[in-house]
Amino acid sequence: MVLNLCGHDFHYECENLCRVFYPNDPVRIVRDADDPAALTSRMQQTDGGFVLSAAWDGEREDVFVPADTPQLRDAEELAASLAIFRLLQRRTRYTPPWGMLTGVRPSKLMITLINDLGEDGAKRYFQEQLLVQPEKTALAAAVARQEDRILQTSKPDSFSLYLSVPFCPSRCSYCSFVSHSVNSPSAKKLVEPYVALLLRELEQCGTIARELGLRLETVYVGGGTPTTLSAEQLAAVCGAIARHFPLGTAREFTVEAGRPDTITPEKLRALKEAGVTRISINPQTLNDDVLSHIGRRHTAAEAIDCFRMARRMGFDNINMDLIAGLETDTPESFRRTLDGILALSPENITVHTLALKRSSRMVAVENARARDGAAVAEMLSDTQRTCTDGGYVPYYMYRQSRSVGNFENVGWCRPGTEGLYNVFMMEEAHTVLACGAGAVTKLREPHGKWIERIFNFKYPYEYISRFDELTARKARIKAFYDEYSI
Ligand code: SF4
Repeated sequence: MVLNLCGHDFHYECENLCRVFYPNDPVRIVRDADDPAALTSRMQQTDGGFVLSAAWDGEREDVFVPADTPQLRDAEELAASLAIFRLLQRRTRYTPPWGMLTGVRPSKLMITLINDLGEDGAKRYFQEQLLVQPEKTALAAAVARQEDRILQTSKPDSFSLYLSVPFCPSRCSYCSFVSHSVNSPSAKKLVEPYVALLLRELEQCGTIARELGLRLETVYVGGGTPTTLSAEQLAAVCGAIARHFPLGTAREFTVEAGRPDTITPEKLRALKEAGVTRISINPQTLNDDVLSHIGRRHTAAEAIDCFRMARRMGFDNINMDLIAGLETDTPESFRRTLDGILALSPENITVHTLALKRSSRMVAVENARARDGAAVAEMLSDTQRTCTDGGYVPYYMYRQSRSVGNFENVGWCRPGTEGLYNVFMMEEAHTVLACGAGAVTKLREPHGKWIERIFNFKYPYEYISRFDELTARKARIKAFYDEYSI
């Protein structure tokens, strides 16, 4: 579709809103054009204020904003969105559960609003101004309460450590991460030199953190699938973390075991002996047909066996990831997946909504189209009911662009087992020192909100061939803390 903006530049919100209603249509923005086929969003000055209108194909919606409205620009942007929302809602007969809210962190907005307006006022704002449905408003408020409590525990000298292992046993069809399938001999050859350099980068970052007197809160080893590494390589990586960082203060040490087809007793033993406190086993679904459809090379039974093996070996904090909206999955089979996961009683269950990323095989090669949001809505409502009845609380939430139906990703946990890194990272609570290809170090001002990023090279071959450049960039960490002292 063509979106024609006249008299304003609120293109971000307007474009995102069009995508909510027409997820499969690319949106092309034009400005001040005379194009009768376009959806035209216009701002015009009138007596005493401004009219924000949306017009398309003979239909039109107007929203008036008085000139003396406080925070006028925000109000104009909201009015432009509202006009488009009403027009598209009428045309499509679809009412998005998150209303006009298109941002990626609804709970962050909810925390800010609670601080300004109190919880009742914040909920009213969600429902009356942003048109968020009561079920999603309640979810955002519940997450905000949990996140706020966790965020209070982060201090000016806190930091977390993130490690990237960008290798997987094969590539899932929906994946848009920089992750190399070790099925290819060229990728396989990269693993050993990659691990050797990762150990060096860990040593460098550990030395910097020690010299600055930073306090380690959480460690997260993600990817890719870290358990693609051998048991010996995992032991070496975890051993380097223990040697170079003060694990004594860390409240959580997570490794994404991720794919059940990479998990062995030897690897779990290596993780346990290294002091890993939380692992993630991510079946995504317990429907074998769907697993095969998305390119996974394991069955639901194998995922369940892995979980039981980890339990026997003493892992008492396990997360399991699921995805709602996978092709060929249905609300009924998703419900069976939920029941199967609940029967295992993991401490955390993270339910993502499928996002159709352009770089994924599903979109780039298989030309997948966004499916009907109603089926995903049913899956997520079921999740909310089932997890709540099962004694789980929602503790973190984010949304991705291009997620089916503009829905959310939510981490559920048994009280007291929240994945702390997820909250600290999502809300940018403190510095994250990040090692490995594609990792991004985020330096957060200790007594303020300023964030500075240091990017590592994205691909493993660049990480290996330009490693010295990358370690030179890390010198900025000390300079940052000299400028913004703890
Ligand atoms: S396991 Fe995760 S990172 Fe690896 S290919 Fe699948 S989605 Fe991508």
